[in-house]
Amino acid sequence: MTFTLEGMHAETAASDALAPVLEADFYRFQQTLTDTEQRALGRIRAFLDAEVRPFADDHWEQARSPRHLVPRIAELGLYANAFERTRHFDNSALFRGWVAMEISRADPSTATFIGVHSGLAMTAIAVGGSEEQRAEWMPKLAAGELIAAFGLTEPGHGSDTAKGLETTAERRGDHWVLNGAKRWIGNGAFADLVVIWARDVADDQVKGFLVRTPTPGFSATTIARKQSLRAVENADILLEDVIVAENDRLQRIGGFRDVAVVLRLTRADVAWQALGVAVGAYECAVAYAAHRVQFGKPIASYQLVQQKLADALAAITASTALCVRVSQLQDEGEQTDQQAAMAKAFVTARMREVVALAREICGGNGIQLGGHEQLGADIPPGYSVARYFADAEAVYTFEGTYDMNSLIVGRAITGIAAFV
Ligand SMILES: Cc1cc2nc3c(=O)[nH]c(=O)nc-3n(C[C@H](O)[C@H](O)[C@H](O)COP(=O)(O)OP(=O)(O)OC[C@H]3O[C@@H](n4cnc5c(N)ncnc54)[C@H](O)[C@@H]3O)c2cc1C
Repeated sequence: MTFTLEGMHAETAASDALAPVLEADFYRFQQTLTDTEQRALGRIRAFLDAEVRPFADDHWEQARSPRHLVPRIAELGLYANAFERTRHFDNSALFRGWVAMEISRADPSTATFIGVHSGLAMTAIAVGGSEEQRAEWMPKLAAGELIAAFGLTEPGHGSDTAKGLETTAERRGDHWVLNGAKRWIGNGAFADLVVIWARDVADDQVKGFLVRTPTPGFSATTIARKQSLRAVENADILLEDVIVAENDRLQRIGGFRDVAVVLRLTRADVAWQALGVAVGAYECAVAYAAHRVQFGKPIASYQLVQQKLADALAAITASTALCVRVSQLQDEGEQTDQQAAMAKAFVTARMREVVALAREICGGNGIQLGGHEQLGADIPPGYSVARYFADAEAVYTFEGTYDMNSLIVGRAITGIAAFV
């Protein structure tokens, strides 16, 4: 699963400092990373603080994906992270998780923008593509020359795609004809390449197709009025007699069980992303509580506020422990579907608790983008607890809802599938 990208990471060699351990990393889990990885993390954090967080509220409000960041994200090697070992960072699941957390901590929409491309779509090609397909697509995707999307969900099928998927693929000679509709597809409105999952009418198996856009019969409409992860441009996609060459069918996908392999690998990353949402919101609340004065004292001095902060930090710490372990298991090749499902369910539930506590601490200013600016205090732009609060809802729902991931664990405990 490795390929080379000569020279891509030259710039990232510039700094040698290890990333400082975050105050929200109470048990110093970051130190489970290698020094090489911690140095890379420092460079990534500097990029996020300078180029992502300060502009995140504006992108969110304008519902605009930060596409101008693509070259910088590629330069930092973030698209290639999962697939390539370089002298600047290893390609461990643990490091990939930390990176997902850091990006989400700055901006959950940017984390999703990257995650859909390099997590879902590139992993689908890495897992399901032939050698030739990987050689053709992965370098271009890693370099950000092309942007990809992952089309699984449909208007009528979200949690039950394994059994319910209705998009059809019909083989005609050396090509396939796709028909159907997809919903909620991140990056779908502007992607150059969309991995479309469709059911083969001949054998009823789900297969993967690399659909190059624009192509006749393919149309994508941006979903408007979204109130979570607004800076991710999700699309409704229509496929009307879309022709795809047999060469563009993912050659190593034999059925939905192979799609499940992709989701197993990416679901743990989404747990890390949820952790980043929680950390981002918690940091907003800590900064706000230190500056907001009521009854003549900073609200941070009141017991009830400290209780909320302590509860939030404990939830973050427990979540970090789970994320670290699930990634270690992935690196050892031992991670199971149910372990990934538990991590996603547990961490997203804790994330929801933390963003609610953090929003509460920020009072009325916590429901406005940039609300903390009312304090006139020295808190940098982008510390908007309202954004994390709203974004948490989508992260809670995608890559398997809390319910579905819990039921996957429930099936492992009891041997009984409660959801079919
Ligand atoms: C911002 C965003 C980005 C997304 N990006 C992508 C993407 O890039 N590609 C993609 O393919 N999809 C994407 N999705 C879709 C996402 O994966 C689905 O929303 C998710 O799988 C849930 O499906 P659904 O919304 O249809 O909800 P439903 O499946 O309709 O579920 C509704 C509710 O019913 C519950 N439920 C359903 N079945 C059961 C059961 N058997 N037992 C108990 N409870 C049940 C669910 O837990 C949930 O609470 C995205 C979604 C969002 C919101």
